[in-house]
Amino acid sequence: MTKRWGMFGLSTTGRLVTDFVHPPYCAACGVRTDRSDSPFLCEDCQAEFRPTATHWCERCGAPCGPYQDTSNGCVHCRNDRFAFGSARSLGVYDGRLRQACRLGKEESGAALLAGLATLLVEVQAEWFAAGEWTAVVPVPRHWTRRWWTRHDPALVPARHVAERLGVRLRADRLVKVKRTPSQTSLSTTERRRNLSGAFEVRGGRALVGGSVLLVDDVLTTGTTTHRCSRALLAAGVSRVDVAVLARGVGL
Ligand SMILES: [Zn+2]
Ligand SMILES: [Zn+2]
Repeated sequence: MTKRWGMFGLSTTGRLVTDFVHPPYCAACGVRTDRSDSPFLCEDCQAEFRPTATHWCERCGAPCGPYQDTSNGCVHCRNDRFAFGSARSLGVYDGRLRQACRLGKEESGAALLAGLATLLVEVQAEWFAAGEWTAVVPVPRHWTRRWWTRHDPALVPARHVAERLGVRLRADRLVKVKRTPSQTSLSTTERRRNLSGAFEVRGGRALVGGSVLLVDDVLTTGTTTHRCSRALLAAGVSRVDVAVLARGVGL
């Protein structure tokens, strides 16, 4: 039996199965990859998405200077009030990362989002290692949007971050109960009003007393993640931190 497996090579068999699930092509540029490092992105694309910054605002996850004290926030978030404790991103929502996040919203964007999420955990390894989360929760969409498409740009990275960290994914506890227009065209005040009472925790006993890592694709003003965090804290969660693929600043 061992010999028969040996003829094909167990790794080859394993690879055939993996190839079927994740074809061995870079999700960003389409080049064939050997997947030794990441199952989704080629080495060149990984290098391109890797941030040049080495320091990050403790509160909002924006890149900042090495000697900047961000315990009270940075230039991008000093006037904002956030219910979450800290945030991290892969980088600024700009250039190729912005393009990738936009493509990631499309139906075919799951592998790309998975690749970015894998890279996020690697790039922010220290921050992720220090977290003591008991659950990973994606920023939810209203059920009417789930009707249109099964693809969910917050759930995909949340699932991959949860897998990488070995923390349980709880995608069904935080729900969006109010259908709201897109935040992008609204002012900060309108955004707050728009999302007031939009999120609720259901059957949240599993989350009570625990600490949650909230995941979304992009954090811009932080209103959505703030509202989600408030709902989670009100339901008995002790702390919320936020991980996003990109941090939109100056938008
Ligand atoms: Zn590539
Ligand atoms: Zn900040």
